[in-house]
Amino acid sequence: MKYISTRGGVDAITGGQAVIKGIASDGGLYVPTEIPKLAYPLERYSSMTYKQIAASVLGQFFPEFTSDEMKMAVDKAYDGKFDVPELVELKKVDDMYLLELFHGPTLAFKDMALSFLPELMNLSLQKEGKNGKIIILTATSGDTGKAALAGFKNKDGISIMVFYPEDGVSDLQRLQMTTEDGENCFVGAIKGNFDDAQTAIKTLFNDRELEKQIADMGYSFSAANSINIGRLTPQIVYYVYSYAKLVRDGNIKNGDKINVVVPTGNFGNILAAYYAKEMGLPINKFICASNDNNVLFDFFETGEYNRNRDLVTTTSPSMDILISSNLERLLYEVAGRDTGKVKELMDNLGEDGVYTISDDVKKRLCDFYGSYSTEQDVKDTIRGLFDKTGYLVDTHTAVAVNSYIKYKNETGDNTPSVIASTASPFKFSSAVCDALGIDISSADFYDQSKMISEKAKISLPEQVEKLKNSPVRFTGSYSKDEMRDVVLDFLK
Ligand SMILES: *Cc1c(COP(=O)(O)O)cnc(C)c1O
Repeated sequence: MKYISTRGGVDAITGGQAVIKGIASDGGLYVPTEIPKLAYPLERYSSMTYKQIAASVLGQFFPEFTSDEMKMAVDKAYDGKFDVPELVELKKVDDMYLLELFHGPTLAFKDMALSFLPELMNLSLQKEGKNGKIIILTATSGDTGKAALAGFKNKDGISIMVFYPEDGVSDLQRLQMTTEDGENCFVGAIKGNFDDAQTAIKTLFNDRELEKQIADMGYSFSAANSINIGRLTPQIVYYVYSYAKLVRDGNIKNGDKINVVVPTGNFGNILAAYYAKEMGLPINKFICASNDNNVLFDFFETGEYNRNRDLVTTTSPSMDILISSNLERLLYEVAGRDTGKVKELMDNLGEDGVYTISDDVKKRLCDFYGSYSTEQDVKDTIRGLFDKTGYLVDTHTAVAVNSYIKYKNETGDNTPSVIASTASPFKFSSAVCDALGIDISSADFYDQSKMISEKAKISLPEQVEKLKNSPVRFTGSYSKDEMRDVVLDFLK
């Protein structure tokens, strides 16, 4: 199996090579020439552990590695870093199955993939016999940043730079990043929003002159965002795992369909669910939940993707995105893998900020249901679910829960539904306190977390405790035009 660009402008390469490169040099994203099938009959997964499923699913996407190599990479990625035995938990709350993906080092689902990506990159570098060093450049809407730093910190031969939007992250997210103490790490604030940061990073990736300059210093670029195929594939695993767990617990029968509800920003997490379905997992509907930045909702309604609108800052900052990069990979699939077509659409997006898909292509998106939540919806959902069940969700998960309720009311569909619960409520403490009616006028993130802990009777994560006394190491804030020099300075 090889990997090619969604825009058709580069030669086919192996998965490992695609992981090292991050983004294709024609501006497209690497995709497998065909999405592999699950290695075993469905029922088999119900007797496998999370890590066994991970080694199997990932092995299907990266066949150049032996199963022993994969198993070792999986062990290294996940052992000792998560606070529940199977890395994730599936909890029945009301009539939903909440898939808690936030039990890793940084309290958000990005850990599921970013714990694994560095191991995959190391394997790939060994296989390729590459002796240069890698510099990971990452734009973050808040959660990717710390998860990538945690994953790549002090890894031999790899350095990492993270840029986050100055006014677009929660206090805890900012502190998690700016207190990073890894030797090979750099963190900078960007004057602008996430889209500005992401676009600036893509520009650096496509800057051939810069590529030469850093090559002279012994480096090549790679990406830790979900534009990297090595970031996406580990996310398929938890959909397979939750299905298997539902079967094991007798909540569904093997072969029954489930719905998947995903709070969506860059479209990586929900695309992983789509890949899981293409691999053979029985998924009925993909419910794509957005916040006030509802470009995707409009897209699924009308077939027009239009980013020409103001980005709104919300209480679910990891979804404050107008350019959902991974939608390009879905378009590639539903447009019949026609790279010319994808390139045309993406050129339109680049030039005019808008594109429209044909009716044919739109028909093939019928498994997707778009929905969005206002800030009031988010507040009401956090409060309503807590009052009803005693279960507390963060703002992003609240968007998903609210979309699920809207979907169910509108369609009457009773298919068992797995809701991706993407962050711990402690990570967005001020918004969560606000929803619960807790007065936080003079409280910092730590005091807020303690109040949440008391009110919801969940213990304060040790990560929050540790942050309170960590010194801030990075204070710089940069304009887009300064980023090039910042990169060169860091590598000197
Ligand atoms: C990144 C993130 C999302 C959005 O995920 P995408 O893969 O970008 O769609 C949702 N919730 C949280 C908490 C996140 O960190």
